[in-house]
Amino acid sequence: MTTTSTTTPAPVLDTAYFRRWLAETDRLVRRDSARLTELDAVIGDGDHGANLVRGFGAVGAAVAEARPETPGELLTLAGSTLTNTVGGASGPLFGTALRRTGKVLGATAVPTGAELADALGAGLKSVQKLGGAEVGDATLVDALAPGIAALSDAAGAGRPLREALDEACRAARAGADGTAALQARKGRASYLGERSVGHQDAGANSVALLMEALRTAVDATEVPAGAEPGPVAESVAEAVAQPVAEAVAASDPGTEPARGTRTGRVGVVLVSHSAKVAASVAELSGALLGSVDPAPLAVAGGTPDGGIGTSADLILAAAREVDEGHGVAVLCDMGSAVLTLKSLLAESPSPLPADTRIVDAPFLEGAMAITLTAAIGGDLDSVLAAAEDARQYRKR
Ligand code: ADP
Ligand code: MG
Repeated sequence: MTTTSTTTPAPVLDTAYFRRWLAETDRLVRRDSARLTELDAVIGDGDHGANLVRGFGAVGAAVAEARPETPGELLTLAGSTLTNTVGGASGPLFGTALRRTGKVLGATAVPTGAELADALGAGLKSVQKLGGAEVGDATLVDALAPGIAALSDAAGAGRPLREALDEACRAARAGADGTAALQARKGRASYLGERSVGHQDAGANSVALLMEALRTAVDATEVPAGAEPGPVAESVAEAVAQPVAEAVAASDPGTEPARGTRTGRVGVVLVSHSAKVAASVAELSGALLGSVDPAPLAVAGGTPDGGIGTSADLILAAAREVDEGHGVAVLCDMGSAVLTLKSLLAESPSPLPADTRIVDAPFLEGAMAITLTAAIGGDLDSVLAAAEDARQYRKR
C-alpha cells in the first residue's frame, strides 16, 4: 500500500494502450456475450452479443493486419471495421463513435486523459447525430454520456488517470443500470413502448464494458497480434454468411419485413449496368440488415429492355420511388452509370428529387453501409459519411 505510488508508473495513453483497450473490449464482449444477447432478446431481437463478438473480432484482425501507428489511426480503423462488420444498428453507432474519436485525436501520439475525454465527447455527439438519441431514451447513450462526463470531470480536475477511469466505469455502469427505469424511445426496444420499462438496454451494457476495458487496459499486458486467428477469421466470415443464411431461410415473402412503412428516412438507390447485379447487391445488403427495418430502397439495373447499360429513366423512377423528403443517396457501380447520374444532377432544374446525392464508395461495401445507416435513421450526411467509411475499409 505504502509503496504503490512510487512503484506504479502513471499510465501512458499511447497506441499500445488503445490496442489493449480494443483487445480487452473483445475479451469482455466474448465473456458477456450471452448476457448481452439475453438483454437484447427481452426488448429487442437477441443478436447484440453476437453482433459485438463479430465486430470486435473483426477489429482485432484488422488491427493485426494494418498495424496502425497512432491512436487516431487505430481508432479510425476500428470504427470503420465495426461499421462494416457488425450487421446491426450497434455497428454504425459504435463505429461512428470510435471513428470520430480517432479523427479528433488526429496525429496526437499520446493524448492526455482530458484530450481523450474530449475526443470521446466528439464521438458521443456523432452517435447522437446519427441515431437521434438523447440521454433518457434508454439507449447506449445513457451509459456513454455519463461515462465520458465523469472522465472529463475527473481528468479536468487533475485527478490521476486510474481514478478518473474508475469514475468513468462507475458512471457508465450506473447509467446502464438506470436504463431499466426508462422507456425506450430509440432503436428496436422503442417498438415496445411502455413495455420496455423494467429492462436494461443491451447497448448501454456494452458501453459499460467498453469503459471497463478502458480502465483495465491501463494495467493489462498486451496479447501478441494475430495470436488468435481462428475465432477472428470465423467471426468475420459469419458476418456475411449468417445473415445471408437467415435471409435464404426466410425467403417466404410473408415473413419479409415491410418496406417503407416508416417515413422520414433517406432513400437508397443502387444503379448497376446489370439488373442482376443491382438486385443481388440489394438482396445481400438487405440480408445483412438482419432484423433492422429497412429504409426505402430501389434499384436501377441495366437498360429498360433488359440489356447491359444504364438508363436515366430507370434512375429517375427509382429515385422518385424512394424519396420521402429526407434526401436520396444514389450509389452507382461505374463509368456510364456515374455519368448518367451526374448529367441528371446537372440539369437545371434537375428532374431528380431535391437532395439527391452521389455516393462515392465501392458498390457492394457502399451499398451495405448506406443501407444500414439509412435503416437506422441516419440523415443524408451520415449516410454519405458511412459510405466514406466503406471506402476506407482495406482488404490487405
Ligand atoms: P439491432 O437493434 O439492429 O438488433 P444491436 O442489437 O446490435 O442492433 O444493438 C442494439 C442496441 O443499439 C440497443 O440496445 C441500443 O443501445 C442501441 N441503439 C439502437 N438504436 C439506437 C439509436 N437510434 N441511438 C442510440 N442507440 C441505439
Ligand atoms: Mg439486436
